[in-house]
Amino acid sequence: MFVVNIILDIPLRHGYSYLSEQELLRGTRVQVELRGRAQVGFVLNCVASTEFNDYPLAKLKLILSISADNLSIPNDVWELCNFAANYYHHPLGNSLFCAIPTLLRKTTEPTANFNQTKFYQLINHEAKLRGSKQLNLFTEFQHTAILSYRQIQVILAAKPDKLIAQWIEKQIIHETPAPSAASVAQALTLNEEQQLVVTAITKSFNTFHVGLLYGITGSGKTEVFLHLIQRILHQQQQVLVIVPEINLTPQLQSRFEQRFPAAKISLINSEIAEKARFNAWVAAKSGQSNIILGTRLSVFTPLHNVGLIIVDEEHDDSLKQNDGLRYHARDLAVWRAKQLNIPIVLASATPSLESLYNYKLGKYSLYKLTARAIQAAELPQIELINLQHYPVNHAGICQPALDKLHECLERKELALVFINRRGYAPVITCYECGWVSQCRNCSTNMVYHHEKRQLKCHHCAYQITVPPVCPTCHNQYLHTIGHGTQKLEEFLQQQFASAKIKRVDRDSTNSKSAWQDIYHQIAVQEIDILVGTQMLAKGHDFPRLTLVIGLNLDNALFSYDFRASEDMFNILTQVAGRAGRADKAGLVLLQTNYPDHPVYQFLQQHDFNGFINHTLRERQLNKLPPFCFYALIKLSSLTESHLKQAMHDLFTQAKLLTHPEVWLFAPVPAVMYKSHNRFRGQMLISSQQRNKLHDYLRSLENELKELKGVSVAIDVDPLEV
Ligand SMILES: [Zn+2]
Ligand SMILES: [Zn+2]
Repeated sequence: MFVVNIILDIPLRHGYSYLSEQELLRGTRVQVELRGRAQVGFVLNCVASTEFNDYPLAKLKLILSISADNLSIPNDVWELCNFAANYYHHPLGNSLFCAIPTLLRKTTEPTANFNQTKFYQLINHEAKLRGSKQLNLFTEFQHTAILSYRQIQVILAAKPDKLIAQWIEKQIIHETPAPSAASVAQALTLNEEQQLVVTAITKSFNTFHVGLLYGITGSGKTEVFLHLIQRILHQQQQVLVIVPEINLTPQLQSRFEQRFPAAKISLINSEIAEKARFNAWVAAKSGQSNIILGTRLSVFTPLHNVGLIIVDEEHDDSLKQNDGLRYHARDLAVWRAKQLNIPIVLASATPSLESLYNYKLGKYSLYKLTARAIQAAELPQIELINLQHYPVNHAGICQPALDKLHECLERKELALVFINRRGYAPVITCYECGWVSQCRNCSTNMVYHHEKRQLKCHHCAYQITVPPVCPTCHNQYLHTIGHGTQKLEEFLQQQFASAKIKRVDRDSTNSKSAWQDIYHQIAVQEIDILVGTQMLAKGHDFPRLTLVIGLNLDNALFSYDFRASEDMFNILTQVAGRAGRADKAGLVLLQTNYPDHPVYQFLQQHDFNGFINHTLRERQLNKLPPFCFYALIKLSSLTESHLKQAMHDLFTQAKLLTHPEVWLFAPVPAVMYKSHNRFRGQMLISSQQRNKLHDYLRSLENELKELKGVSVAIDVDPLEV
């Protein structure tokens, strides 16, 4: 008999003991009974029962069942979860369960099935065929000799099984073993800069090395990835590619598929179906897939033989999880690469301050791509429009910007108008009594949405129909204040009646095919003006785009959040980078009341280094990250008095535990004090030494359990303070 310690999906630091007739390895998936219910758990450790003398073994229950090996958590993923649990001060059980597909958390035993991709080779080059689809396919075969099932499906735009069977019977093609995953179709030649990066990172294969790839938009980062991936596939290793947004995966996936027709790609993100995600997980773990492409949660994917990790858009906030295990996928990916002794590439057009600081400390290597991959493409010209001289109209746009828009339409080129607020207007109000449309659950305004005449809270999703009269004084004239994407869209449509305008925000693009539709519409010139939020800024490629207009930008300069100006700089650099990619130079117009502000000055000169040095100096002066380390204790409660009491008790206890190198700040109400009907407060803790901060947090954990009537969370390296 063996005594096995099992980790379950419950918020406890320790496991539960059970008996097993056979010895079990750490990470083995089992089912056990807890409080009368079967539950899934994973083995933490296993000790022969003979080693216990006075342990009441009779009280322990037997494990109910043991899953197959391919469902266990391999050692390196276990270590990663354990590290994450410690670093983010989150229970190990919850961390492990956050790392695995949903199907593995359920008590029904899942089985993986994946159809092995089949490949076919042309054997009769003289075959006589009829029908354009058949002829197309035949021509394609004559070009490449071998095609995969999926390629045939794409060429035929239909399920190919019947035709394949016919062709095999007529001995036109036959099935053939899969070519090497590394075999490529039409690779591009690299420019000198790209070649240098590929060579340098290839030299570091099989050793830990962090390469920060700083490539301006349009400089061909993806081509660098493709060349690196080819070399990894050639070594018969796997590559893990992490992107911040699900929206970005289809573009990359199709680039990978085109280049590596024989490679198997596993997609890992929260939107793919449970079964598909589970299959992808097993395929990655068993080494059946070559390229693993996913969002932040893919950092936990078990990998059979990984040779390289790539994190694209490494500066993006979406790489950090905001609830439960509050992990940063980039940081965990670097840790994982170090454990596995493999290189990792962090890529961005606007690298994060943290990563650049690590470069300055000598921990990361920096590789630059400064030339645009397409020879003629130049950086766009950035102009600042001083709103002191050119006031905005009711839709938030000024006359010089409208003039440029008009010229762009005349040239039949694509324009993008960027405003980082969806909805019609951020608030409606009554001028008589001062009523404003506030959310009943949150301390924020409800945004007016024009289409269905609704007021929506963008935090808790509470929504109501616009009241016909003021709810307080019954005045029938209510007014909108401020501007959002819908108001702008409406105004531009009135202004340019014949222009085809497409709005892109979370309201308009929530269907899965939305982005594909947009690309298609742009390609066939069915869009003249894109109006949208920062969704448009992230990694998308728009040919024909020559004009970008940015509205409503100044708020970020005066935000309570010290990262706001960095975020704004990044978003604007990314949006601006979309302009003028092909053979046409782009123009970027930014409306501002503060054209002399350093952030705008650096932007205008495309001076990212200047901006970084300026910001690093500011952060150092004010002892802000990355010059010190932050943790937030977040409290929330449905009852305001409970929250206030807990904030008081927390501070009292926290002060007793003081440490000379750890700074405590008195708890304060959160910026959004009320959200989802909960009152929220937070306490900031900082230290210039990371381990001191963590020691302190560990000692504080027990005190946190004593707080009454509140939910408590620890956020290490928070993105918002
Ligand atoms: Zn009123
Ligand atoms: Zn709300």
